[in-house]
Amino acid sequence: MVDRLILLDTTLRDGEQAPGIALSPDEKVRIARQLERLGVDVIEAGFPVTSPGELEAVSRIARIVRTCGVAALCRARAEDITLTWSAIGAAERPRLKVFISTSDVHLTAMMRMTRAQVLDVARRSVALARRHTADVQFSAQDATRTDPEFLVEVFRAAAEEGATTVSLPDTVGYALPDEFGALVRSVREAMPPHVQVSTHCHDDLGLAVANSLAGVANGARQVEVAVNGIGERAGNCSLEEIAAIVAARGPSLGLWSGLNLREIADTSRLVAKLTGYPIQPNKAVVGANAFTHEAGIHQHGMLSDRLTYEILDPEQLGLGASRIVLGKHSGRHGFANALARLGLDLPPDAFDRAFARFKDLADGRVPLTEDELRRIAADALVRPAPA
Ligand code: MN
Repeated sequence: MVDRLILLDTTLRDGEQAPGIALSPDEKVRIARQLERLGVDVIEAGFPVTSPGELEAVSRIARIVRTCGVAALCRARAEDITLTWSAIGAAERPRLKVFISTSDVHLTAMMRMTRAQVLDVARRSVALARRHTADVQFSAQDATRTDPEFLVEVFRAAAEEGATTVSLPDTVGYALPDEFGALVRSVREAMPPHVQVSTHCHDDLGLAVANSLAGVANGARQVEVAVNGIGERAGNCSLEEIAAIVAARGPSLGLWSGLNLREIADTSRLVAKLTGYPIQPNKAVVGANAFTHEAGIHQHGMLSDRLTYEILDPEQLGLGASRIVLGKHSGRHGFANALARLGLDLPPDAFDRAFARFKDLADGRVPLTEDELRRIAADALVRPAPA
């Protein structure tokens, strides 16, 4: 059995909450249009109560986007729900995403509420949201540090009041995959079949993607993701990594997604540009070196068959062809290939001299330029005078 994995993209909400990012309404609309081309299931467009600009951006996105759901975040308060609905009500498929904290540390230190009060507020706010739309998500902030029995109790109440998705945020990125998987399983088993269970994982320990997958392995069918993994502090579960995992390992996982994979590269670049958050060279999937090969043995393999060292075709992700770059780790095959691409074909003795010279120059240096390679080849063609 193969299930569809629902992707809720929160680049424009949690992603934008990353320190130093402030997108204008125009920029948010540009990203939303690109997310629609990419084919995410739901765009979480923002948190309208934050600012007038945010309210405007969410309203514009709700009116423009046609083929994805449009969600907006709101606190579990009547006035927030009313304001948020005014922003997204015009969407083709609007979703109210209501949240409240459920962990004791948040209740005592931040909210000064009892568990009974939280349960009551959750119930009333979901019921209120449900009067506006049949698509209501309820998120229990800090779910992974919440007493698991209380978490299930709150989710049961939300489902009774009509929530159609319940989400378990690992708000502080504290969970381990096995733990998170078990928590998701206990929630899945307590929910009626029509209620979707969602993950929302943060990367404080570098486990956001692993935790999200553990959630999916235990019955979650929605993952909340952000482009380039941006988000609060160390960020969110990375959209492109989840997309690549489903593309590479979908049959093993029993999953597929509705994404148009060829839009991954453009989406990643647009978000990096507009947020000012660059992508590290070794970032999975979209890093500049994710499909680049320098080491000799790897180049030899790649030149015979790219399946020797690649599990995905970068062209299918819109990233262009794999790259072979020359450096101190490159070998004869890679060097010969680089010369051939420059139209240079050296006889064996000159090739040996050129290769030896290349190894000398490449040691401890940045990659050689094409001009330097041409110079090496030209010099090698001049047989040295006997000593
Ligand atoms: Mn978050």
